[in-house]
Amino acid sequence: MITASEALQRLQEGNRRFVSGVRSVDTLVKQLQRADLVAGQAPFAIILGCSDSRVPAELIFDQGLGDLFVIRVAGNIVAPSQIGSVEFAVERFGTPLVVVLGHTMCGAVIATLDDLECPSEARSSNVLSIVNRIRPTVEPLFETELRRNPGQLLETAIRANILAATNHLRHGSAMLEQLIQNGNLTIVGAEYSLESGEVAFFGGI
Ligand SMILES: [Zn+2]
Repeated sequence: MITASEALQRLQEGNRRFVSGVRSVDTLVKQLQRADLVAGQAPFAIILGCSDSRVPAELIFDQGLGDLFVIRVAGNIVAPSQIGSVEFAVERFGTPLVVVLGHTMCGAVIATLDDLECPSEARSSNVLSIVNRIRPTVEPLFETELRRNPGQLLETAIRANILAATNHLRHGSAMLEQLIQNGNLTIVGAEYSLESGEVAFFGGI
């Protein structure tokens, strides 16, 4: 298995290809080698991303079948089933890198800000379970002068939500925490720009 920094580099190179509209031959060839993956998989990165239809991890990182273990949920929130999915993949495949991937104009963060602006009792409890995970991170921002600048408030809230999810994943599981301490796992946050197609990673490895 490759190291976390090699995995990160593969993602960065793939995203550069995506931005330039090029697909690697490797990615295309892998689609033809579906049969080789029946016996097993060895994904080199785990992506915990938003369900937004404009942010499909395999496409924006130009990766093929078997490359990425992807967990998608609106607002890239971290709840027990997401942590469990990461634990499963790390334990089963020895994947060294987890990327918490948010994106600009995230509808789940927008819905949370809308809810703070104008609380709605009509929301289903299931949708609320997502909003309520984002709310503690964005509520303090909502109470600052950022509230007068909706664009900047949204940008800041989206980044804060990615960082909070990253932190939660790093410390919300004894197993993951141990692997990080031993240097066998790296968890980073990243933001995909709908406008440019680029992924900005937060913090280095
Ligand atoms: Zn989103």
